Amino acid sequence: MASTCDVLIGGGGVTGLSTALHLALRKCGRIRVLERHYVGAGQSGRGAGIIRSMVRHAGLSRWQAESARFFQNLGEQFGEGIPVHAAGYLLATDRITPRASMTLPWMRQGFVHRTFACTYDYSPDGMPILDRLEGLAGIYFAAGFSGGGFSLSPFVGRTMAEYIAIGRRPDDIAELSWQRFRDGKTIQWSNN
Ligand SMILES: Cc1cc2nc3c(=O)[nH]c(=O)nc-3n(C[C@H](O)[C@H](O)[C@H](O)COP(=O)(O)OP(=O)(O)OC[C@H]3O[C@@H](n4cnc5c(N)ncnc54)[C@H](O)[C@@H]3O)c2cc1C
Repeated sequence: MASTCDVLIGGGGVTGLSTALHLALRKCGRIRVLERHYVGAGQSGRGAGIIRSMVRHAGLSRWQAESARFFQNLGEQFGEGIPVHAAGYLLATDRITPRASMTLPWMRQGFVHRTFACTYDYSPDGMPILDRLEGLAGIYFAAGFSGGGFSLSPFVGRTMAEYIAIGRRPDDIAELSWQRFRDGKTIQWSNN
């Protein structure tokens, strides 16, 4: 591997890889991804791959729609696609499971598909933090995806690549700075 580069990305999950891809599309020079284990070793290798499209936050809905279009057009753009299916989504709590199981008897027992352990990064308001380090030029971070980082990864890659390339925060991610916690301006949204 070359010992010098223009952009060094830490972490070979969907966030790092998408940012690397979008930097490459912008022709931002030599881009390297440093991964301590293997690509997809973190949450990205374990996620369910669900792209939600119904949330109570206009920005988040737009960002998810952009990402869904990216995944749908992957084959056209890069010659190799992934299957994308429109499907329903049911979040069952302990309270509704007994009722639902009257119509869907298999829900009474549930089943364990597989088990694993990994870090699940959660921000205080459940929204990502896309920012750069204050006082130290050239260091950017994207974290706190709170269980939705796969669905946002194309959007995050595009906006972080723009942020890094131009050095100015894109308007699209204005509300995703870490300062919102310092200023008590957390984002209000919900999944239903
Ligand atoms: C069970 C589960 C189900 C999920 N389902 C969905 C879903 O349906 N839809 C959805 O949108 N999201 C889902 N998510 C969330 C989604 O998977 C994550 O938000 C997303 O994968 C985060 O990607 P990431 O690249 O930011 O982090 P990660 O995938 O965790 O990648 C971080 C990488 O950094 C590497 N690393 C760490 N430290 C260093 C270091 N010092 N040097 C070099 N490398 C380092 C790690 O090895 C890892 O590979 C789910 C998550 C889990 C756990």
